[in-house]
Order: sequence, then structure tokens, then C-alpha cells
Amino acid sequence: MITQTTYAPSNADSHSASTEAATRTPPLMRLEQEQARPHQDEQGLFDTVLAQFNQAADILGLDPGVREILERPKNEIVVNFPVRLDDGRIETFAGYRVQHNDVLGPFKGGLRYHPQVNADEARALAAWMTWKCAVAGVPFGGAKGGIQIDPSAYSPGEIERITRRFVYALGDNIGPDYDIPAPDVNTNAQIMAWILDTYLSTRPAHERQRNLHVVTGKPVAAGGSAGREKATGQGVAFVVEEWATENNVALDGLTFMVQGFGNVGSWAARLLARRGARLVAVQDVTGAVRNDRGIDPEELLAHVRRFGGVEGYSQAEAITHRDFFETAADVFIPAALENQITARTAPWLKVRLVVEAANGPTDVAGDMVLSRNGVELLPDILCNTGGVIVSYFEWLQNKRHEAWDLEDVDARLKKMITGAYQMVRRTERESVVDARTAAYILALQRLEHAYKQRGIFP
Ligand code: GLU
Repeated sequence: MITQTTYAPSNADSHSASTEAATRTPPLMRLEQEQARPHQDEQGLFDTVLAQFNQAADILGLDPGVREILERPKNEIVVNFPVRLDDGRIETFAGYRVQHNDVLGPFKGGLRYHPQVNADEARALAAWMTWKCAVAGVPFGGAKGGIQIDPSAYSPGEIERITRRFVYALGDNIGPDYDIPAPDVNTNAQIMAWILDTYLSTRPAHERQRNLHVVTGKPVAAGGSAGREKATGQGVAFVVEEWATENNVALDGLTFMVQGFGNVGSWAARLLARRGARLVAVQDVTGAVRNDRGIDPEELLAHVRRFGGVEGYSQAEAITHRDFFETAADVFIPAALENQITARTAPWLKVRLVVEAANGPTDVAGDMVLSRNGVELLPDILCNTGGVIVSYFEWLQNKRHEAWDLEDVDARLKKMITGAYQMVRRTERESVVDARTAAYILALQRLEHAYKQRGIFP
């Protein structure tokens, strides 16, 4: 079913409103309960989600009706919107928002700016948000979106106008108690502040103060939460700590390697290094570096901020992609994009544990290789929940007009993520499955329970 949304910002000036109306027929589409169609891309990312989902659903004996609901996203929104660039040209961008499920609470999930953004990827990432909120026990559903764009090719002013026009085009498809965006790949607190400002500017003046929670991951001065910026990396560090305690392994001297040195990878590395763990290799889009005696993540971060990547870092040796994967370390933390641990790369890994900080870093074949080789894996829908957990705290603080201090945020985050860790471990033991399947079972049980209690309208 295709329904045209009829959003018309009430206080927008008539000129821009009529321009928007002209460009919105038919670009703004909302596909309700759209069938998950076969995709063009071979082994699309959503196929990975379905393979993981089906395995857990079979073991659990998930209700067939609930299974059908969860097998496809609830809404898929595509907006094509024009922006004037610095040189006067007009360029049209494709923006996506997939809302997978909202039975446990409002749709929630990040917006990424990347050339790889498309409907299939957003669909997969939205479903992973549904599972991760259910695993973490956060009362949100799952959504994800973004713009298909290489942000490095645009000026900050252009990125601001692109962001604002995207939010304007999304209109009432997002909202503080409906669908709440957050940072993701190549988006940050500044972009969240522009989203907030644009959204509020389209509301009547007297409604603005009660809509601060339309987006999370905002700068603290614009209603953000202490500890949100480091939250995903902090959650990853808490998970590693919990695993170390459980396995009687000392953090002090534990060696680890990180793929991706953006917000999540750099924070995870810094926080683990502060606990005595030794960072031995890092890879990002610019290359890979290794130093078995240890890499100082603070120094590396200063280099990355200055030169845009790890390439050329003088305190470590430049290595190849394969060398990076073959590094001898205790823990591998993929914190970049999807499909990095595959049938090709998984056999190279020499680590004892993979802690998935990225969303979907391991494909189905990669998973099989790891388990065959006895490499333990802790799944994304557990390990990277720190971000959305602290987003939930930010959302609550905005609703209650409160500001929690960092110690409070960190303590609550630790309690929630270690609680989720223990629940996944318990499910693993009870169902005799691996950690990924256990996390799915936990999520699906919670979702099924909600559907069973609520029933299906009418
Ligand atoms: N983008 C982050 C994720 O993938 C955070 C989402 C959020 O805070 O809503 O989990």
C-alpha cells in the first residue's frame, strides 16, 4: 500500500512550502507494510539479517504471524530533495528512512551519510536496531536511514543545507514520540543540532520546548546528554570487561586490534587502553598500522584528526589488509562498516574473541568460519547497544527537563549493558546456541511477548 504523506509545515513561509510541494510529487513516498522484495544486489545485507533471524526463529518456534510481521519493515520512506551548492548549482540527493518495527516503543536509530547508503542497507540496519533495543531492554523500536552521499566532497555549509533540507523533506515521518534519529557513520552532534533546529523551526513556537527529544546525540549545550558521544565505545569497553571477568582474563596486558577509528573505534580503544589493554593494530579507509609494543590511541587520534586517517602514523608500521587481519591479538573489535569478516577474511583471524562494535561486520559465511575455527564472537546487537542506551537516557532527560551527570550516565549504562550481557549468556546456556543466536532469541521472545499481549488490530 502506498500512501502519500500530507505533511505541510505550519509555520514555513509560503514560498518554500509551495516549492516543497512541487518537489514532493511524487518523491516523498511512504510504503506501509511493504513486502520485503527480492533485491538486485547479490547477498544483500537484509538477506544476512533474514538468515540470522530465521535461524533463531526456527529454534524458538516463533509464532508464524509474528514472524511474518518481523520479516519486513513497517514503513520505508525515500525522499529525493534538491539543495543549492556553494557554486550555485542545484543537486538532488536521495534520503532514506526505514522504520522496521515499533511494538516496543517509538522507532529509533541513526542516520548515516555514506555513498553506500541504499534501501537494502537501511532495511537491514533498521531491523538490527529493533533487535538491539529489545536485547538492551530499551523501550524503542528500530529504524535507520541516511543520505547516499560522500560527505567529504561537500563544504560544511553544504552539509548543513543538505541536512536541513533532508529533515524538512522527512517532515512528520520523524517526531519525538514517533521516530527519533541519532548519529551514525559520518554524522555527529553538530548534524544532530541542525536536525533539531530544523525540526523545531517547522513547529509552532509554543510547541518547540517540548520537542527537544526529536533527535538524540545532540551537543550537550543543545539538550544532549553527558556521555553520549563516547557511549557506543564505552558500551563496547564494558562488554570486553565483562567478558574478561567471566573468563578470568586480566584487562591489563590484553592485546586488541580495531578496525575503524571513528567515534566508536577510537573511544573503545581509548577506554580499553586506560584499563591497561594494549592496542596493537588499527585499520581504517586510509590503510592499516601495527605495533606489537602498543599504539597510544590518544596519539593516534591526534594524527587521525590532523591527517584524516591512520595512514602515515609514524609510531607504527604500515601493513597490508591481510597483515592486519592476521595480527596476533586477543581481541578484534570491528568498528567500521558491514561485511568485513567474510569467507575470505575470517580464516586469517588469529584472535580469541571478536567484539562486534559495528553493525553487521560479519556475514553468514564469516560466522561459520569463526565458529569452525573456535573464535568466540559477541554480536553487534549486544556489543554496540551503548549508543542507543544513552540515547534513551538523553530522550528521558529531555522529556523530564533533567540533566544527569557523567557518573550517573556511565553507571546506568554499565548496569543495563552488563545486564543484557548476562541475559544473552543465560539464553546461550539454556538454548545451547551461540551468542548471536542467543541475542536474537532474547530479542524475538520479547517482541513476540508484546504482540501476544497486545493482539493484532482490529
Ligand atoms: N547509530 C547508533 C546505532 O547504530 C545509535 C542509534 C541511536 O542512538 O538511536 O546503534
